[in-house]
Amino acid sequence: MRKPAFLQPRILKQAIVAALTPAYTTKFPAEPFEPQASFRGRPRFNAGGCIACGACAQVCPSKCIDVIDDLVVTPPKRTLVQHFDACIMCGQCERYCPTQEGIRMTTEWDNAGFKPEDFEDRVEKELVMCEVCGGLLAPADQLLWLAERLGPVSFANPTLAMFAGTGLGCVEKGVKSQSESPLRQDRMAMQCPKCRRQSAWAA
Ligand code: SF4
Ligand code: SF4
Repeated sequence: MRKPAFLQPRILKQAIVAALTPAYTTKFPAEPFEPQASFRGRPRFNAGGCIACGACAQVCPSKCIDVIDDLVVTPPKRTLVQHFDACIMCGQCERYCPTQEGIRMTTEWDNAGFKPEDFEDRVEKELVMCEVCGGLLAPADQLLWLAERLGPVSFANPTLAMFAGTGLGCVEKGVKSQSESPLRQDRMAMQCPKCRRQSAWAA
């Protein structure tokens, strides 16, 4: 009669070796698990590096980053909300972030939660409005970042130059004329591209 498999010397030897060898699997949850540094886990905003440009929301394939502009509060603000429960951890947001430090893929992988807020990450930034038409111009940090990157070239754009100057306290705000439509003398006001074009051609 044929012996049971576990009594065959080769199988028996393998069983004894396996019993005496440490486990290949991790000891989670008894011990914390550290993934490799290249592991793509939960993306997280970095408020210090984010300029609220919204590029990450535009390239996100699963559309899990919301850009919410609140123009009613003073000062107006933009909130970016990343919904991790819809994230596919592709890394496109990090890749196309112009500052390369506004959002980063972390190695966080253990992301259980009980309510929707447990899967949200958000960052809030101040918005700058056009002094002529009152429309949205850009996030303040984006203007500063642009002015810094362009250096002296930013003086070719009065809005950028003036905004950079407000931080130094050498620029007067609210220099717009009382006219409803842009005038030539409004060129030194902080303007959106449309008003700037109109004031350039105004009499
Ligand atoms: S700076 Fe980066 S993280 Fe912030 S909104 Fe722009 S692309 Fe997104
Ligand atoms: S990792 Fe991919 S899916 Fe997740 S927020 Fe970034 S771009 Fe969107």
